[in-house]
Amino acid sequence: MSESSCDSISNSMMMTCFCGEVTRFTSRTSLNPGRKFYRCSKPKIENYGFWRWKDSSPGNSFIEVNLLKSKLECCVEMENLRESLNAVKIERDKFLKKMENLESLNYFEVNKSRNLEAKVSKLKMLCILSFTVFVVFVVAIFK
Ligand SMILES: [Zn+2]
Repeated sequence: MSESSCDSISNSMMMTCFCGEVTRFTSRTSLNPGRKFYRCSKPKIENYGFWRWKDSSPGNSFIEVNLLKSKLECCVEMENLRESLNAVKIERDKFLKKMENLESLNYFEVNKSRNLEAKVSKLKMLCILSFTVFVVFVVAIFK
C-alpha cells in the first residue's frame, strides 16, 4: 500500500462516523468561532461520539504539531535562559561581596596611610624644631 492511498483512506474515514451519518455544524466557542465541524447525526446516546473539524487534515495537524514543537522549544530555551540568568545573578552577588570586601580593605588602607602621613609631618616638625634649637645653640656658643 502506497502512502498516498493510505492518506486518502484515512481522510475519507475522518469525515464519516461508523454509522455513516454526519451533520455539519459551526463552532460558537470563543476559541474556534465560525469553524466548521462534522458530528454524528444520531442522538448522543446512540452515536459513537464522532466529531471532526472540517479543516482538520493530516497536513494541518502536522503544522499544528510543528507549531507546538517550536513553542515547546521556545519554552525550553526560555527555561535555559532563566537558569543561566540565575547563574549570572549568583555570580554577580559574589562579585558584589568581593567588591564590598575590597572597599572595606581600601578604607582601612586609606586610614593607615593618613595616620602615616600625620606621623611623617610630626617628624618633619620635630626635625625643623631640633635643627632650629641646634642653630640657636651654636650661635650662642660662638658669640
Ligand atoms: Zn454516528
